[in-house]
Amino acid sequence: MLEIRNISKSYGKLKVLESVDMTFNDSGIYSILGPNGSGKTTLIKTILGMVIPDKGEIFFDGIKINWTYNYRSKISYLPQIANFPDNLTGRELISMIKDIRNSNLNEEYLINLFDLKNHLDKNMKHLSGGTKQKLNVVLALMFDTPIIILDEPTAGLDPVALISFKKLIKELKKRGKIIILTTHIINLVEEITDKIIFLLEGNIYFKGNIRELLEKTEENNLEEAIAKILKENGNV
Ligand code: ADP
Repeated sequence: MLEIRNISKSYGKLKVLESVDMTFNDSGIYSILGPNGSGKTTLIKTILGMVIPDKGEIFFDGIKINWTYNYRSKISYLPQIANFPDNLTGRELISMIKDIRNSNLNEEYLINLFDLKNHLDKNMKHLSGGTKQKLNVVLALMFDTPIIILDEPTAGLDPVALISFKKLIKELKKRGKIIILTTHIINLVEEITDKIIFLLEGNIYFKGNIRELLEKTEENNLEEAIAKILKENGNV
């Protein structure tokens, strides 16, 4: 469904992505991992058309999408840092985004799941970081799209919200969605990921499932495996 072919991107002399190839065909949870600065966010923004690659092509359902935008209605996106206008309430924000996207919704289910009912009429500036993140998740996931991209989705979520989030992601997977996420939370990767894509300095170092990564690194757990990759490649 989504194919990235030979994507490269540099900022000045810094090569951020180098000939990256990736295919997301089957429903499931794909975790893009890698140390800070390895190009994860740039890759996501390239898929979304927010960063224009120097080279390479992106295909959605077999159609080349570089420089187009209609395909974006098929993607739900949770940005890493949600900067909401201070003086809007959650309710106003949800209504604004609904107007803009104009498609199927299930916001009531999500508002209940994250227990947000009592916070929807407060101005953003009065919400805690965790509550803002819950709202961020609702805004990103209230549309019914085949692809979901989540950049550090669990940042600031309390344990109860984290359980709800994992339940939601597993349900979305069952419904056939392709879910692509970045995270530094190893437990989350272990619990929900079907496939890991490990980026190192703009290159794909590893693509496969957790068992394959453990075999490749000859380690017994994911945390040790990732630490080993980083140490061997001079990232710590
Ligand atoms: P990650 O998400 O893996 O932490 P990023 O994709 O955010 O990595 O960044 C990769 C590298 O590209 C970093 O060194 C970052 O400073 C640099 N970078 C990202 N965006 C820009 C930009 N707009 N201008 C210049 N450098 C950038």
